[in-house]
Amino acid sequence: MKISSQPKAIVVGAGILGIAYAKTLAARGYHVDVFEKSEKAVGSSIRNFGMIWPIGQPAGTLYDRAIKSRSIWIELCKSAKIWHKKTGSFQVLSNPLEFELGKEFLERESNHREGLQLLDKSETLAALSIVNKSNTMGAIYSGTEIIVESREAIRVIPDFLTETQAIKFHFSTAVVEVMPNKIRTAMNKTYEAEIVVICNGYELNLLYPSFFKTSPITISHLQMLRSERITATIPALCAGLSFLHYKSYDKLPSLAIYEHWVKDNYPKHFFHGIHLLVSQNYQNQLTIGDSHDYGLHHDPFQIESVDQLILDYLNEIFDIPDLKMAQRWTGQYLKLKNNSSEWIQEIENGVWVANGPGGAGMTLSFGMAEDTISQMIG
Ligand SMILES: Cc1cc2nc3c(=O)[nH]c(=O)nc-3n(C[C@H](O)[C@H](O)[C@H](O)COP(=O)(O)OP(=O)(O)OC[C@H]3O[C@@H](n4cnc5c(N)ncnc54)[C@H](O)[C@@H]3O)c2cc1C
Repeated sequence: MKISSQPKAIVVGAGILGIAYAKTLAARGYHVDVFEKSEKAVGSSIRNFGMIWPIGQPAGTLYDRAIKSRSIWIELCKSAKIWHKKTGSFQVLSNPLEFELGKEFLERESNHREGLQLLDKSETLAALSIVNKSNTMGAIYSGTEIIVESREAIRVIPDFLTETQAIKFHFSTAVVEVMPNKIRTAMNKTYEAEIVVICNGYELNLLYPSFFKTSPITISHLQMLRSERITATIPALCAGLSFLHYKSYDKLPSLAIYEHWVKDNYPKHFFHGIHLLVSQNYQNQLTIGDSHDYGLHHDPFQIESVDQLILDYLNEIFDIPDLKMAQRWTGQYLKLKNNSSEWIQEIENGVWVANGPGGAGMTLSFGMAEDTISQMIG
């Protein structure tokens, strides 16, 4: 292999994880080539809520990683002039069981997290103009969440990194083969590097089909909606069903009872893995979701009744006048089935897989790259 003064790295995929590893490798002195098969990234990184969501991460390594990512996001957004908003988040609690979970969460977590508060009904109504008064008992407020418009951010960051660091993005360039310290593109060009990092998200099967089949992974398929602009300005929102979706709430004393309650009272929502997240972008549009369906194959057809279940729940918790949908789409992400927080593995000499933040890639990727880079480059 050719030895140059500046070590070379190759990253496959220009989603948030590819961007995070490219940035981190460049900061360690590597010249980085990033290969992205599409003209612009179109994977999960542009299909999400743009929520940097530390509140969903369990206290300890992952919460600290989320907070580290958050600082990197803020610094990067400021430098690259990318819109971002420190909104904090409200989880609206609609019944005594959810309020009890809120109390248990505050009791257990207040010392481990920044800016947590349990709001009563009047405080919640005062803070949130769009909440449905008859269906609110209170809310968990967290001060750490920020929103980016991921469609904008994921497309602007490559230009900024190209200008400011030793990183070159090769768009419309699919990698079709990976060998030790080497890749081959669809145009039959080969590139060599000391290290190759595969960040191609849920499409790992394209490069390593047998490895993909035998690894403890599944793919989560989600339905999402975006509204037309609304008049109110709102922070990032979620509601009771989110207790069943984030590891931060694991093992709360009343969680098992709540899960039974949800199965009895929201059986279709439970079946489709629906909870409610709402983020607002700089055009005052809302991104609304989501559902979760798991498996290695997913049909491309959006199911109207699932969208309707998401909107029914939204309309129970919030009262947003003249809400009209402007867009609907699906997204997918690779999810680890072995409960690990990341998947970092050298699968051939000098070839690493970096994957696994699942439904929290926007929240965790920058911190994950910082925390794991030494495994790859020593
Ligand atoms: C609907 C939805 C909502 C979500 N909401 C949030 C949220 O609000 N907050 C949060 O923290 N997380 C959220 N997530 C999770 C987050 O979006 C993902 O964890 C993250 O985007 C994964 O990033 P990635 O770079 O691994 O994958 P991707 O963004 O999918 O990027 C992989 C890239 O690799 C490219 N590629 C694939 N194969 C090749 C090849 N052979 N050659 C070259 N290029 C290739 C693809 O084109 C793609 O651009 C959400 C996910 C979804 C689907």
